[in-house]
Amino acid sequence: MTSKHQLKLTNTLSRTKEDFVPEDPSNVRMYVCGPTVYDYAHIGNARPVVVFDTLYRLLRHLYGADHVTYARNITDVDDKINARAAAEGVTIRDLTERTAAQYHADMAALGALSPDVEPRATEHIEDMKAMIERLVATGHAYVAEGHVLFDVGSMEDYGRLSGRSLDDMRAGARVEVAPYKKGAMDFVLWKPSKEGEPGWPSPCGIAEPGRPGWHIECSAMAARHLGETFDIHGGGIDLVFPHHENEVAQSRCSHGSQVMARYWLHNGFLQVEGEKMSKSLGNFITVHELLETDKVGGRRWAGAAIRLVLTMSHYRQPLDFTEKALEEATALLTRWAATLDKCGLDGAPGEAAAALPDDLIEALCDDINTPRALAVLHRLAREARGGDVDAGRGLAASLAFLGLDLSGVRAAAEEAREVAADPALAARVDGLIAERKAAREAKDWGEADRIRDLLAAEGVVLKDTRDKATGEVETSWEVAQ
Ligand code: AMP
Ligand code: ZN
Repeated sequence: MTSKHQLKLTNTLSRTKEDFVPEDPSNVRMYVCGPTVYDYAHIGNARPVVVFDTLYRLLRHLYGADHVTYARNITDVDDKINARAAAEGVTIRDLTERTAAQYHADMAALGALSPDVEPRATEHIEDMKAMIERLVATGHAYVAEGHVLFDVGSMEDYGRLSGRSLDDMRAGARVEVAPYKKGAMDFVLWKPSKEGEPGWPSPCGIAEPGRPGWHIECSAMAARHLGETFDIHGGGIDLVFPHHENEVAQSRCSHGSQVMARYWLHNGFLQVEGEKMSKSLGNFITVHELLETDKVGGRRWAGAAIRLVLTMSHYRQPLDFTEKALEEATALLTRWAATLDKCGLDGAPGEAAAALPDDLIEALCDDINTPRALAVLHRLAREARGGDVDAGRGLAASLAFLGLDLSGVRAAAEEAREVAADPALAARVDGLIAERKAAREAKDWGEADRIRDLLAAEGVVLKDTRDKATGEVETSWEVAQ
């Protein structure tokens, strides 16, 4: 390690904060479970991306950019994908390619670096089959009615990662037990594909074509790209059981190894009004909607503002995602941009990299303590506003390090300044608002909407507020970002 800082990470395996010591400091290896590509990523899905991007940046700083390998997979075979492609009447490939491209664009807008490898499940079917064959050969899996199942009873410490005993799991199991399963908790490694579903020639002498279960995908891809044992495995807390527990079981039993990943890290949920944001609950906001539409708060939000909201809480804590937080993050970034302007710094990435403050790295080395890291930025901004240009350089370097690109908020602030300084535009908008008001009073809703759309096309957003006392509607406007 080239740095004097000792990175500490909370390891789900030990449930304690441990010193991070990589197996091979010349190649630090991290795997994070990636998206199942059938729909836009919601902001909850973006949380692990931002959390592990921050860790990736830190590891690159500590060990050197060429000494870190970050793999994040794309799950492009899944029942949800099949169902969505059929519902839309598109091919599976079209759906998965389109969704993966959207995912890349959205995550790049949040300032996330691309992982070093991004393996796709469908390109690793042979690796999965080889692993399944090994599990059957070593007595950890069995074939039953066209399926291959992992025999959890064959592994002494199954349940260690999630801290559950097999007996507890059996007692609490609500899963309907398929008649071909030996044990209730046994899980699918391979299953038959019906007519019209994607399928591959099956392993273990099964005649019908089939497809892999979800868990085996990650085990096979991680082994292929990072080796049988690697350093860090990450994902959301919801993945600890069963997904990660099953990854551990498959990988250790097929490789005959003591550990799969040495450090397991899990981010807390992103919530909306106390509930986990998820597609199945239907309470989700997509990253795309925040970036590209006015669905939330009637405006588009800068990627850096979204990232800052995700960075304000410690990654292990639950995070309540609100419009107010987005507003605060936007205001904060705008203020920081103005501070850099005052110091004559434009905040371009890489500016004054040498000025990266020590206490920023120290905060991040404390189990990725981003709230503590942001406190460093607040201090630097205060000092920079007081005329300390070096502190301004430190702020610029820290923002770049944290993936907070100010160009979006700068552009919005600039636009707002131009508009405010453009009396002709303001007069035109006011005139059109008056025309719209008259149209509404005449109940000419078509004309009223036409004017609203005309202004929207020019990036001017109208906001109507009804005065509770008088019932009068007051219309204000702003230029969308
Ligand atoms: P999925 O597409 O559901 O497999 O999720 C992809 C990643 O996002 C996984 O690491 C999940 O743990 C994570 N994730 C999903 N929903 C949330 C949420 N509401 N808060 C935080 N992480 C989440
Ligand atoms: Zn996984």
